[in-house]
Amino acid sequence: MSTYVLSPGREKSLLHRHPWVFSGAIATVKGEVSPGATVEVMAEDGRFLARAAASPASQIRARVWSFDQAEKIDAAFFERRLAAAVAWRAPLFSEGNTAARLVHAESDGLPGLIVDRYNDTLVVQILSAGAEVWRETIFDALVRVTGCTRIFERSDVEVRALEGLPARSGPVRGKGPTELTIAEHGLQYVVDVAAGQKTGFYLDQRDNRRRIEALSTGRDVLNCFGYTGGFALSALRGGARSVLSVDSSGDAVRIAQRNAALNGLDDGRGQWLEADVFKHLRLLRDQARQFDLIVLDPPKLAPTIQHVDRAARAYKDINLLAFKLLRAGGLLASFSCSGGVGIELFQKIVAGAAVDARVDGQIIERLGPSADHPILLSFPEGDYLKGLIVRVGAVAAKAGEKTV
Ligand code: SAH
Repeated sequence: MSTYVLSPGREKSLLHRHPWVFSGAIATVKGEVSPGATVEVMAEDGRFLARAAASPASQIRARVWSFDQAEKIDAAFFERRLAAAVAWRAPLFSEGNTAARLVHAESDGLPGLIVDRYNDTLVVQILSAGAEVWRETIFDALVRVTGCTRIFERSDVEVRALEGLPARSGPVRGKGPTELTIAEHGLQYVVDVAAGQKTGFYLDQRDNRRRIEALSTGRDVLNCFGYTGGFALSALRGGARSVLSVDSSGDAVRIAQRNAALNGLDDGRGQWLEADVFKHLRLLRDQARQFDLIVLDPPKLAPTIQHVDRAARAYKDINLLAFKLLRAGGLLASFSCSGGVGIELFQKIVAGAAVDARVDGQIIERLGPSADHPILLSFPEGDYLKGLIVRVGAVAAKAGEKTV
């Protein structure tokens, strides 16, 4: 096995069980290292630190498989890790819930690997050179551990290029339809695992959709970046007076409409629009439209730390417009799934937007991803999804005004 020897002091993050080794931390490379090969990572004094997968093409030069010197990286290793990840999630599946994330990469001790389960179909994303070399082993182990015989690969994501890997998509175990109907909190959703975004559905928002359902009763709801209607259907079932759902993807909008019909929620309260949210919010403002609940769930506006400034301006823009469209007492559910925008910065952006919109706001809830997207304590980079529910309106009655 080849070895990466770290520069003095650079062993610290590994001793804190952070799973990445950056290229700048490596002092010497002993032996030949091919992409994805398992290497030993050592401190300058020769101490064993970890066994990791090499990514020679990436700034993240290695991702840790194990901090245990006695643990071999072989088929049994992957089966153990996968079985552990799958086992604790079992309670998430019930009649009302037939989909969940089974493997959340670093946070499940399996860097570069995402596995989502939709009914009896698994959708896998392989994002690193390390996971790539073990892909057949991983597929076989997944079949054994889950009992699912159908696996569809969706490794068609840009980050693979940083690893020197080409995009790949298609069935890898079993055959069957790529359009499935899953259940989430008892609502039915069509999921296109071949052509849908990510692996087909945004499972991380599962519990937050339920929160929106509870807050929607009697309200006029605007659902921005609605994808296939997750928040919109939740609001309709929760008794919203009206729901306007906007997304720029025509395919997503069409599936959202089908999903509404599938659940008997196509009762005239919902409106489904293919449009750019940044433009459409301005149009709604110019039309002086008003809502009682607005959901903002934009795509990752800051894919990396380099994009944070531009992303901050875009977040501020949509939050400001949303604040202007809310009636007093209305609620803004505002999300960011940009890893580079931490909760402190995100809250600051939303606060700045409220000031510029001339509204007072109170955070009444903070939201994060559902339990199947855990955040490993030693890997804060995994804490990407954050949400705030802000109530707008006067904090106190003005002097002389009556409160009810
Ligand atoms: N809230 C959704 C997930 C949203 S993901 C759910 O619960 O399932 C982000 C969505 O934003 C995607 O559907 C994408 O098509 C859409 N999108 C990206 N840029 C957009 C834009 N400028 N205007 C409108 N929608 C956009």
